[in-house]
Amino acid sequence: MGGCRPVGSESRVVEADTSPAASTAEAPIGESLMTEAASSSSGTSADLDLMATRTTPRAQPDAVGMDASPISDRSIDADRAALPLELTRHISTSGNIHPLTSAGGRTLAYWVFGETGPVTLILGGMHGAERTPTLLCAEFVGWLESHPEAVTAGRIVVAPLVDPDGFASRRRNNDNGVDLNRNYPATNWRRRADRHGSRPVSEPETRFVLALMEAYPPSAIVSIHAPLACVNYDGPAEELARQMSHACGLPVRASVGYPTPGSFGSFAGVDKAIPTITLELRPGRDVAPDFDACRKALLVAHEFSLANGR
Ligand SMILES: [Zn+2]
Repeated sequence: MGGCRPVGSESRVVEADTSPAASTAEAPIGESLMTEAASSSSGTSADLDLMATRTTPRAQPDAVGMDASPISDRSIDADRAALPLELTRHISTSGNIHPLTSAGGRTLAYWVFGETGPVTLILGGMHGAERTPTLLCAEFVGWLESHPEAVTAGRIVVAPLVDPDGFASRRRNNDNGVDLNRNYPATNWRRRADRHGSRPVSEPETRFVLALMEAYPPSAIVSIHAPLACVNYDGPAEELARQMSHACGLPVRASVGYPTPGSFGSFAGVDKAIPTITLELRPGRDVAPDFDACRKALLVAHEFSLANGR
């Protein structure tokens, strides 16, 4: 990926890793906005106490793919209390709990809609300090549950919260201090102390995403971040970016202007040639005002998968 240049004079480039501050914490504008976003949308700061309860970490197999198969027939109700309220409030019963857990031992959940055919993979919360991507994904999952007619062909796989530890602590990096969007096994990965991980795929959250990609090989991917307000793309996704931009009103931004070694877009889009969109939401407290537009853009991505996928 990339990210994009900020929109608006007050915005800061929170995706850039050229500044020391960006490596350890969200830039101030993103942090304050997203912190406000969570408490505003939930109505109470006490929600923090209701966030994912730490559990004893389960075994963390190293090999990518060995946990690729979902735990079938297991409702999230069994683990509902282990998921943040922001994630479950819109969602009824469907969903899967992955065998992997986060670095801090938290539950990693995902949802699958549709039975067979091309897959659209949607990721949120790779940077836990960014709240609105997870809120959007959760609301989208709830919407798909009540609109089964929206997925009559192909499959939509949604992982709303890739880094539950960062979400709980409102930090950009995971519990090991790694920027997960620099931990993918892209050819451009490079070591930067341990902030990109001790090696590519050193982090369980990265293995979780790769396991999903192996179990559900995607024909298009949307990784949702905030608050740069644009549709960024990697790999053969320029046309998809234009279509999504038309649906959601955010501008297409192809260029990033700074290196993003080991980013998800570098791996999935550039190296694997899977059409990959980084949807950067607007700054703001809540995703609700943009939900319909964003939902349409996500469904556009699925139409693209159906037209171009395997
Ligand atoms: Zn981000």
